[in-house]
Amino acid sequence: TNRLGTLTREELAEIDIKHYLHPTTPPKAHYLSGPSTIFSEGKGIYLKDVEGQERIDGVSMLWNVNLGYGNEELAEAAKHQMVKLAYSSSFSGQSNEPAILLAQKVASLAPGDLNVCFFTSGGSESNDTAFKLARFYWKIKGKPERTKIISLEQSFHGVTVGATSATGIEGFQNFTTSNAPNFLKAIAHALNAERGDKSDPNYARSIRGVIEAEGADTIAAVIVEPIQGAGGVRFPPEGYLQAVRKLCDEHGILMIADEVICGFGRTGKMFGVDNWDVVPDLLCVAKGISSGYAHLGAVIMREHIREAFILSDEMMFHGFTYSGHPMACAVGLKTLEILERDNIVENSRLRGEELLKGLKYLESNHKHVTQVRGLGLLAGIELLKDPETGVPFDPSEHAAAKYTDLCMDLGLQLRYFDWKGTNTVALAPPLIITKTQVEDIINRMSDALKAFE
Ligand code: PLP
Repeated sequence: TNRLGTLTREELAEIDIKHYLHPTTPPKAHYLSGPSTIFSEGKGIYLKDVEGQERIDGVSMLWNVNLGYGNEELAEAAKHQMVKLAYSSSFSGQSNEPAILLAQKVASLAPGDLNVCFFTSGGSESNDTAFKLARFYWKIKGKPERTKIISLEQSFHGVTVGATSATGIEGFQNFTTSNAPNFLKAIAHALNAERGDKSDPNYARSIRGVIEAEGADTIAAVIVEPIQGAGGVRFPPEGYLQAVRKLCDEHGILMIADEVICGFGRTGKMFGVDNWDVVPDLLCVAKGISSGYAHLGAVIMREHIREAFILSDEMMFHGFTYSGHPMACAVGLKTLEILERDNIVENSRLRGEELLKGLKYLESNHKHVTQVRGLGLLAGIELLKDPETGVPFDPSEHAAAKYTDLCMDLGLQLRYFDWKGTNTVALAPPLIITKTQVEDIINRMSDALKAFE
């Protein structure tokens, strides 16, 4: 037998330390102290570890378990498809029923004429695919010199070589090709500059400034997250996404929206861009499309992009073994069916309003909380030593880490980001959360703040 369910925490930790290198985990600390948590089960918004300790998942783990844990319908969909046909290839025009129906469903939900899907296994693969599709598009359009991709500082687009090259968080760029030619960075959210205001002090570093410096006819695409996630839950100013769309149109540049976090209801609308009525040329999704129950992502493209491919009949050599994986697509199809049937996106909007209200209450009643922001069930707060005067915590204090540890002690899992001396605490609970559970999160956060102060 494989011993699943038979070992103690200590035994599991010992094996983990010996044989398991974890992603984005300091290896020495991990080697010395072992896994911080060993999860064993989950139901709804609640998680349990192998010792039976329960906690609320206030971030849907990695912003992905949008329908919560223990969903039997998703499990059934996976089992049914695995027994029927666990795998088939999508290469050379071969297809399968779940992938076909999922492509149609996604097209029906996506804004504008974003009607055609390319399936991947996750967010990084979706973004890499979008970069290649953009370059391929320009090649067949007779403009092969349009190769450069502009992304924003503090953006996170994933960890494959392409996605990490576009990522604007420094830590992820070590030892990778982030300085690879053809990946350019622009300052985030310089609204006035993107609208053409040359007096904006950030003009040269804006997307518009970078386009002008490099020459529009060398740029393939601009990629933006509607709301930056791992960069610290950073919201664009009102009008920003529209300004980027307009700027791309002005120069004939493709706009890619990275909706790996925002897609499928996280922001209280089906897609993040729906909050601002913007239709990108390529829209990348993952995470919420299968609620974390299967490895799945997609690039959704507009008709004019697919049309160019059809007219040229040139093939792009690109595709993953698991592109259009039948089981993953069956889970995706069921996820989207539940999303619609149970009005989950509306729940995200309504519970999001309550969450934001609760966080503002914390801001009014606790001295270190400031810069509360949220849309749907994607929210963030900032911890400052003194919000009145803007004095931050000293980085050596690790304020956000300390605070999220205190939340953890009180049975609430959150995430923190402390890039460049910030102390951001992120919230993104499962979209199935109830009003009472939102209140429970706020109460636990309040208790943790009392301990923190
Ligand atoms: N893009 C965004 C906005 C993300 O937040 C993430 C992951 O957190 C990714 C891309 C990468 O997705 P994956 O980890 O599925 O490759």
